[in-house]
Order: sequence, then structure tokens, then C-alpha cells
Amino acid sequence: MQSLAIRNIRQLDNHNFQIEWMDGATGLYNLNALQKNCPCAKCIDEATGTRRASAPESLMDVRAKNICSVGRYALKITFTSGCSTGIYDYAWLHSLAYEFP
Ligand SMILES: [Zn+2]
Repeated sequence: MQSLAIRNIRQLDNHNFQIEWMDGATGLYNLNALQKNCPCAKCIDEATGTRRASAPESLMDVRAKNICSVGRYALKITFTSGCSTGIYDYAWLHSLAYEFP
């Protein structure tokens, strides 16, 4: 498998950021949409793979307090809505670059 790498991350405004991938793909990421798909243990029941009813509510005006990379394979996004352990792996984010061009 080809390893994915990020060339550049740019915050566009309070709710959107853009990732430029090394392979030339560019993805636009909306924080609200990402939080709805938050893969952390607080949001997803690992046993069933479904979203917990107790997951922090996804707010239209959710913002990112911080976006940082975890090793060379994932981004960690700290949301202002309380969910702070969402780890988004590059493969998943990269696939979204094509889903929401
Ligand atoms: Zn979460």
C-alpha cells in the first residue's frame, strides 16, 4: 500500500480546512461533517460499530481548537464541542478528498 502523506493543511475559515496530499489530491473538510463521523470510542460503540446515542451532539458551529498529526498516519482534531479524542487516519481522510471534491 502506498503511504499517504500530507503536503499542507490550511484552515480556510472557522469551519473548514483543506488538506493538500502529496499525491496531488486536495480535500476540503468541514468540521461539522467530520465530527458526525468521529471514530473515537466516545462516539462509536466498538462492539457494534454504530454511533452511540450519547455521542456529543454535532453542532453546526463546531470549531477546532486544535488539529495536529499523530505519528505519520493520522490527524487528531480537538473539537470545541467536547469531543476531543477523534483520530482520523489519513486513509479515511484521503478517501474523502474524492468524495467531497
Ligand atoms: Zn468522538
